[in-house]
Amino acid sequence: MRIIILGCGSSGGVPLITGEWGNCDPNNPRNRRRRASILLEIQGKIILIDAGPDMREQLLDTGITNIDAVIFTHAHSDHLRGIDDLRQFAIRNKHPIPLYGDEHTLKSIKINYPYALCQVDEFYPSFVTVHPFSEGKIVVAGIEMCAFPQHHGNMVSWGFRVGDFAYSTDFHHIPDKSLSQLRRLKCWVVDCLRFKPHPTHSFFAQTVELIQKLQPEQAILTHMNQDFDYDEAVKHLPPGIQPGIDGMIVEFSGENVIIYDKVSMLC
Ligand SMILES: [Zn+2]
Ligand SMILES: [Zn+2]
Repeated sequence: MRIIILGCGSSGGVPLITGEWGNCDPNNPRNRRRRASILLEIQGKIILIDAGPDMREQLLDTGITNIDAVIFTHAHSDHLRGIDDLRQFAIRNKHPIPLYGDEHTLKSIKINYPYALCQVDEFYPSFVTVHPFSEGKIVVAGIEMCAFPQHHGNMVSWGFRVGDFAYSTDFHHIPDKSLSQLRRLKCWVVDCLRFKPHPTHSFFAQTVELIQKLQPEQAILTHMNQDFDYDEAVKHLPPGIQPGIDGMIVEFSGENVIIYDKVSMLC
Protein backbone atom coordinates (compact mmCIF):
# COMPACT_ATOMS: atom_id res chain seq x y z
CA MET A 1 0.00 0.00 0.00
CA ARG A 2 1.17 3.49 -0.83
CA ILE A 3 -0.39 6.77 0.25
CA ILE A 4 0.33 10.12 -1.38
CA ILE A 5 -0.54 13.26 0.53
CA LEU A 6 -1.92 15.30 -2.35
CA GLY A 7 -2.57 18.30 -0.13
CA CYS A 8 -2.16 19.11 3.56
CA GLY A 9 -3.49 22.66 3.59
CA SER A 10 -6.61 24.19 5.13
CA SER A 11 -9.64 25.44 3.20
CA GLY A 12 -7.84 28.51 1.81
CA GLY A 13 -4.55 26.75 1.03
CA VAL A 14 -1.15 28.30 1.83
CA PRO A 15 -0.54 30.98 0.70
CA LEU A 16 -4.09 32.30 0.59
CA ILE A 17 -5.29 33.47 -2.82
CA THR A 18 -4.62 37.02 -1.55
CA GLY A 19 -0.93 36.16 -1.39
CA GLU A 20 -0.85 36.13 2.41
CA TRP A 21 1.51 33.64 4.05
CA GLY A 22 0.53 34.50 7.65
CA ASN A 23 3.24 33.15 9.96
CA CYS A 24 4.52 30.70 7.32
CA ASP A 25 7.95 31.39 5.84
CA PRO A 26 7.34 31.89 2.09
CA ASN A 27 10.94 30.80 1.38
CA ASN A 28 10.32 27.32 2.73
CA PRO A 29 8.72 25.17 -0.01
CA ARG A 30 7.29 22.86 2.70
CA ASN A 31 4.89 25.68 3.62
CA ARG A 32 3.14 25.77 0.23
CA ARG A 33 0.02 23.70 0.78
CA ARG A 34 -2.88 22.73 -1.44
CA ARG A 35 -6.29 21.71 -0.15
CA ALA A 36 -6.43 18.50 1.93
CA SER A 37 -6.71 15.20 0.08
CA ILE A 38 -4.88 11.88 -0.13
CA LEU A 39 -4.54 9.14 -2.68
CA LEU A 40 -4.42 5.45 -1.76
CA GLU A 41 -2.76 2.92 -4.02
CA ILE A 42 -3.69 -0.52 -2.80
CA GLN A 43 -4.02 -3.92 -4.47
CA GLY A 44 -3.86 -2.35 -7.92
CA LYS A 45 -6.63 0.17 -7.14
CA ILE A 46 -6.37 3.92 -6.85
CA ILE A 47 -8.77 5.60 -4.46
CA LEU A 48 -8.96 9.31 -3.71
CA ILE A 49 -10.06 10.50 -0.30
CA ASP A 50 -11.68 13.83 -1.15
CA ALA A 51 -11.58 15.70 -4.46
CA GLY A 52 -10.87 19.33 -3.59
CA PRO A 53 -10.47 22.38 -5.83
CA ASP A 54 -6.75 21.59 -6.39
CA MET A 55 -7.37 17.99 -7.50
CA ARG A 56 -6.43 18.48 -11.15
CA GLU A 57 -2.98 19.94 -10.41
CA GLN A 58 -2.43 17.49 -7.55
CA LEU A 59 -3.02 14.47 -9.78
CA LEU A 60 -0.98 15.91 -12.65
CA ASP A 61 1.92 16.25 -10.21
CA THR A 62 1.72 12.56 -9.26
CA GLY A 63 1.69 11.36 -12.87
CA ILE A 64 -1.27 9.12 -11.97
CA THR A 65 -3.74 9.28 -14.82
CA ASN A 66 -6.65 7.19 -13.60
CA ILE A 67 -8.65 6.60 -10.44
CA ASP A 68 -11.08 3.86 -9.43
CA ALA A 69 -13.20 5.69 -6.84
CA VAL A 70 -13.52 8.75 -4.62
CA ILE A 71 -14.57 8.61 -0.99
CA PHE A 72 -15.59 11.84 0.74
CA THR A 73 -14.89 12.82 4.34
CA HIS A 74 -17.66 15.46 4.32
CA ALA A 75 -19.38 18.01 2.11
CA HIS A 76 -17.29 21.14 2.67
CA SER A 77 -16.21 22.79 -0.57
CA ASP A 78 -12.48 22.42 0.07
CA HIS A 79 -13.07 18.64 -0.13
CA LEU A 80 -15.36 18.27 -3.15
CA ARG A 81 -15.07 21.21 -5.55
CA GLY A 82 -12.86 19.20 -7.90
CA ILE A 83 -15.84 17.05 -8.79
CA ASP A 84 -16.22 18.45 -12.33
CA ASP A 85 -12.73 17.23 -13.28
CA LEU A 86 -13.81 13.63 -12.64
CA ARG A 87 -15.62 13.85 -15.99
CA GLN A 88 -12.32 13.24 -17.81
CA PHE A 89 -11.79 9.90 -16.05
CA ALA A 90 -15.34 8.82 -16.88
CA ILE A 91 -14.86 9.71 -20.55
CA ARG A 92 -11.61 7.78 -20.75
CA ASN A 93 -12.87 4.77 -18.79
CA LYS A 94 -16.23 4.77 -20.58
CA HIS A 95 -18.03 4.40 -17.27
CA PRO A 96 -18.96 6.78 -14.44
CA ILE A 97 -16.66 7.20 -11.42
CA PRO A 98 -18.14 5.82 -8.19
CA LEU A 99 -18.39 8.34 -5.34
CA TYR A 100 -18.80 7.18 -1.74
CA GLY A 101 -20.16 9.49 0.92
CA ASP A 102 -22.54 9.73 3.85
CA GLU A 103 -26.16 10.69 3.26
CA HIS A 104 -25.52 14.40 3.83
CA THR A 105 -22.56 14.54 1.41
CA LEU A 106 -24.39 12.68 -1.34
CA LYS A 107 -27.45 14.93 -0.92
CA SER A 108 -25.20 17.97 -1.28
CA ILE A 109 -23.69 16.52 -4.49
CA LYS A 110 -27.16 15.74 -5.91
CA ILE A 111 -28.35 19.31 -5.23
CA ASN A 112 -25.24 21.17 -6.40
CA TYR A 113 -24.05 18.94 -9.26
CA PRO A 114 -27.25 17.34 -10.68
CA TYR A 115 -25.65 17.11 -14.17
CA ALA A 116 -22.87 14.91 -12.76
CA LEU A 117 -25.42 12.26 -11.83
CA CYS A 118 -28.10 12.55 -14.51
CA GLN A 119 -27.59 12.75 -18.24
CA VAL A 120 -28.35 16.31 -19.43
CA ASP A 121 -28.55 15.35 -23.13
CA GLU A 122 -26.78 13.07 -25.61
CA PHE A 123 -23.68 15.29 -25.51
CA TYR A 124 -23.34 15.44 -21.72
CA PRO A 125 -23.77 12.04 -20.10
CA SER A 126 -23.55 11.58 -16.35
CA PHE A 127 -20.05 10.95 -15.07
CA VAL A 128 -20.42 9.79 -11.47
CA THR A 129 -22.50 7.29 -9.50
CA VAL A 130 -23.17 7.67 -5.78
CA HIS A 131 -22.83 5.03 -3.07
CA PRO A 132 -23.84 5.75 0.52
CA PHE A 133 -21.88 4.43 3.45
CA SER A 134 -22.33 4.51 7.18
CA GLU A 135 -20.24 3.63 10.21
CA GLY A 136 -18.21 0.42 10.21
CA LYS A 137 -16.87 -1.81 7.47
CA ILE A 138 -17.23 -0.48 3.93
CA VAL A 139 -15.94 -1.74 0.60
CA VAL A 140 -14.66 0.86 -1.89
CA ALA A 141 -13.58 -0.34 -5.34
CA GLY A 142 -13.20 -3.80 -3.84
CA ILE A 143 -11.00 -2.54 -0.98
CA GLU A 144 -12.17 -3.10 2.58
CA MET A 145 -11.88 -0.18 4.99
CA CYS A 146 -13.48 1.08 8.16
CA ALA A 147 -15.39 4.38 8.38
CA PHE A 148 -15.72 6.15 11.73
CA PRO A 149 -17.55 9.42 12.56
CA GLN A 150 -15.79 12.52 13.90
CA HIS A 151 -17.28 15.78 15.21
CA HIS A 152 -16.54 18.76 12.94
CA GLY A 153 -18.40 21.73 14.43
CA ASN A 154 -22.09 21.21 13.75
CA MET A 155 -21.53 18.41 11.24
CA VAL A 156 -20.02 14.95 11.02
CA SER A 157 -16.85 14.23 9.09
CA TRP A 158 -15.61 10.70 8.47
CA GLY A 159 -12.27 9.16 9.23
CA PHE A 160 -11.08 6.02 7.46
CA ARG A 161 -8.85 3.16 8.46
CA VAL A 162 -7.24 0.87 5.87
CA GLY A 163 -5.05 -1.81 7.39
CA ASP A 164 -2.58 -0.08 9.73
CA PHE A 165 -3.15 3.36 8.20
CA ALA A 166 -5.81 5.91 9.13
CA TYR A 167 -6.83 9.35 7.87
CA SER A 168 -8.60 11.85 10.14
CA THR A 169 -9.01 15.32 8.68
CA ASP A 170 -11.49 18.05 9.65
CA PHE A 171 -12.46 17.18 13.20
CA HIS A 172 -12.68 19.05 16.44
CA HIS A 173 -13.36 15.99 18.52
CA ILE A 174 -13.29 12.23 17.98
CA PRO A 175 -15.87 10.26 19.98
CA ASP A 176 -14.62 7.35 22.12
CA LYS A 177 -16.17 4.69 19.88
CA SER A 178 -14.26 6.07 16.90
CA LEU A 179 -11.04 6.31 18.92
CA SER A 180 -11.23 2.54 19.33
CA GLN A 181 -10.63 2.28 15.55
CA LEU A 182 -7.37 4.18 15.91
CA ARG A 183 -5.39 1.79 18.09
CA ARG A 184 -2.19 0.04 16.93
CA LEU A 185 -1.69 2.16 13.81
CA LYS A 186 1.57 2.31 11.92
CA CYS A 187 0.67 5.71 10.44
CA TRP A 188 -2.05 8.24 11.21
CA VAL A 189 -2.62 11.41 9.15
CA VAL A 190 -4.43 13.78 11.47
CA ASP A 191 -6.01 17.26 11.52
CA CYS A 192 -3.95 20.09 13.07
CA LEU A 193 -5.21 23.44 11.78
CA ARG A 194 -2.97 25.84 13.73
CA PHE A 195 -1.39 26.55 17.11
CA LYS A 196 -4.42 28.33 18.61
CA PRO A 197 -7.72 26.54 19.39
CA HIS A 198 -10.46 26.64 16.77
CA PRO A 199 -14.20 25.90 17.08
CA THR A 200 -14.35 23.20 14.35
CA HIS A 201 -10.79 21.86 13.99
CA SER A 202 -8.22 20.24 16.19
CA PHE A 203 -5.19 22.39 17.04
CA PHE A 204 -1.56 21.76 17.95
CA ALA A 205 -1.73 20.91 21.68
CA GLN A 206 -4.92 18.86 21.31
CA THR A 207 -3.67 16.91 18.29
CA VAL A 208 -0.32 16.13 19.95
CA GLU A 209 -2.12 14.96 23.10
CA LEU A 210 -4.39 12.71 21.05
CA ILE A 211 -1.45 11.23 19.16
CA GLN A 212 0.37 10.54 22.41
CA LYS A 213 -2.73 8.83 23.77
CA LEU A 214 -3.22 6.60 20.72
CA GLN A 215 0.49 6.03 20.04
CA PRO A 216 0.63 5.35 16.30
CA GLU A 217 4.17 4.51 15.17
CA GLN A 218 4.16 7.64 12.97
CA ALA A 219 1.83 10.62 12.80
CA ILE A 220 1.59 13.23 10.04
CA LEU A 221 -0.25 16.53 10.56
CA THR A 222 -2.62 17.82 7.89
CA HIS A 223 -5.15 20.60 7.11
CA MET A 224 -2.62 23.19 8.36
CA ASN A 225 -3.30 26.87 7.75
CA GLN A 226 -1.16 29.93 7.07
CA ASP A 227 -0.39 30.45 10.75
CA PHE A 228 1.30 27.06 11.06
CA ASP A 229 4.91 27.38 9.94
CA TYR A 230 6.64 24.08 9.16
CA ASP A 231 9.95 24.79 10.94
CA GLU A 232 8.25 26.34 13.96
CA ALA A 233 6.04 23.25 14.33
CA VAL A 234 9.00 20.87 14.00
CA LYS A 235 10.76 22.66 16.91
CA HIS A 236 7.91 21.73 19.26
CA LEU A 237 6.97 18.27 18.01
CA PRO A 238 7.94 15.08 19.85
CA PRO A 239 9.65 12.26 17.87
CA GLY A 240 7.36 10.28 15.57
CA ILE A 241 5.20 13.28 14.67
CA GLN A 242 5.84 15.48 11.63
CA PRO A 243 3.91 18.12 9.68
CA GLY A 244 2.73 16.91 6.28
CA ILE A 245 4.22 18.18 3.04
CA ASP A 246 2.33 18.19 -0.24
CA GLY A 247 3.52 15.22 -2.28
CA MET A 248 4.69 13.27 0.79
CA ILE A 249 4.61 9.51 0.26
CA VAL A 250 3.89 6.89 2.91
CA GLU A 251 4.87 3.40 1.79
CA PHE A 252 3.88 0.24 3.60
CA SER A 253 6.38 -2.48 2.86
CA GLY A 254 5.96 -5.62 4.97
CA GLU A 255 6.24 -4.51 8.59
CA ASN A 256 7.94 -1.24 7.68
CA VAL A 257 6.55 2.20 6.95
CA ILE A 258 8.72 4.52 4.92
CA ILE A 259 7.85 8.22 4.69
CA TYR A 260 9.55 10.46 2.16
CA ASP A 261 8.91 13.58 0.14
CA LYS A 262 10.29 15.28 -2.93
CA VAL A 263 11.15 18.53 -1.15
CA SER A 264 13.45 16.87 1.41
CA MET A 265 15.04 14.71 -1.27
CA LEU A 266 15.98 17.86 -3.20
CA CYS A 267 17.49 19.57 -0.12
ZN1 LIG B 1 -11.43 21.14 5.20
ZN1 LIG C 1 -14.49 20.80 6.83
